[in-house]
Formats: sequence, C-alpha cells, structure tokens
Amino acid sequence: MKGLTKSNLAIIASKMTLFERPNVSLEQYPTDSEIAADSMWNALMLGDIEGKDIVDLGCGTGMLGVCCLMLGAKNVSFVDIDGSAINIAKDNIKTAKSECGFAGKPSYTIGDVKDSTLRTLKADTVVQNPPFGTKVKHADKDFLQKAFTAAPVIYSFHTTESESFVKKLSESNGFKVSHTWRYEFPLKSTMRFHKTRIKRIKVSVLRLVKE
Ligand code: SAH
Repeated sequence: MKGLTKSNLAIIASKMTLFERPNVSLEQYPTDSEIAADSMWNALMLGDIEGKDIVDLGCGTGMLGVCCLMLGAKNVSFVDIDGSAINIAKDNIKTAKSECGFAGKPSYTIGDVKDSTLRTLKADTVVQNPPFGTKVKHADKDFLQKAFTAAPVIYSFHTTESESFVKKLSESNGFKVSHTWRYEFPLKSTMRFHKTRIKRIKVSVLRLVKE
C-alpha cells in the first residue's frame, strides 16, 4: 500500500492475534511479526507481491498472508488444515484492513496440503512457513511439493540445517534457490513442555524460482 513503511508493517503485524491453543502435532508456531514483515518486504522489493495472486499455505493465524494484503497483493488465498486458525486469520485481516485499508481480496480454504482437492490452487507466488517436520516427519516436504505445483515463485521457511535438503528437492522439481535470508527465530514458550521462556532457532527463508 502506498506510504506503508516496513516498520509500520511490522507494528501492525505485531497486533495480530495468535493461536489460542496451539496444536503441537500440527506444529502451530506463528511467524514472529518482525520476521514476517522483513521477509514479505523482501518479496515486495523483488516484485512478487504487489498486484499478485498469492497462496499462504499453512496460513495459521494469517501472519504472512495479511502482510501480503497490506503490501498490495491482488488476491490472497489462506489455506490451513485447522478451521479455528483460519477464523483467527479472518479477524486479523479485519484488524489490518482497519489499520491501513487495502483493496486486495482474501479467500479461505480448510484443507490438508496432501489432499488432492487442493490440486487446483494456482498463484503467482506461494508464501509458507510450514511445520518444520519435527512432529510429522517430512511435513515440510509435503508443503514444498504442493507449492511447486501451485506457483513459479515460492517463499518458504525452513530450519537453516534443512537448506541443502530444500535445495536438492527444489532442483529435482525444476526450481532453483535464488535468494536465502537467515533469521534467529524466537519460539516463545507457548507450549507447556517448553522450559525456557524464549528459545531461538536458526531459520532460513528461501526464495525458490521455477527454471
Ligand atoms: N504460516 C503461519 C503458521 C505457521 S505454523 C505463520 O507464519 O504464522 C504451521 C501451520 O501449518 C499451522 O497453522 C498448521 O495448522 C498448518 N498445518 C500443519 N499441517 C498441515 C497440513 N497437512 N495441511 C495444511 N496445513 C497444515
């Protein structure tokens, strides 16, 4: 949106409501608002957001997709297996719209990325912070495979140690890694078994482009 700065974007993103009762097996960790704003700003600068059709795969409470709407996306499709997370995303979209007003249109799909009913998803850009696969092995692989079929440009969050796995999988699907941004991801102790208040893990955002 005209006049919106990166720091304003981060401030509005920090007002988003997050998971009420995060589901451990679905790895429901929201993207930190600063990191969401920074990574979606990078995507804006590379021409992948403004006026584009976007899918936020595993949108959760909508942090990434809401940033895309604020940055002038034309359409954002919010997809998650958890309908209650999508309901929070809907509220977050209202909050963001009242803060900065945008013309882009959101749409919603409750579904599993592994489900063939999501076959028809098509977009210019996929943004995703999927489960990292600590609970369901290869959960991030299912997301990547869906993303490869949905769009020619993908922004995907992974643990930094998975970078080479993501690169190989991308190459075998006709995609290359064009950019990598590395972050220290604060995982707030939203889950009962967490012992320290904030644990930091190394996360990379990869921009994957169809060759
Ligand atoms: N992208 C959001 C949420 C990250 S947490 C953000 O950046 O804040 C991962 C999300 O993936 C959760 O919302 C979870 O419900 C969703 N998810 C997990 N497994 C899924 C699956 N098989 N299909 C679709 N969504 C799934």
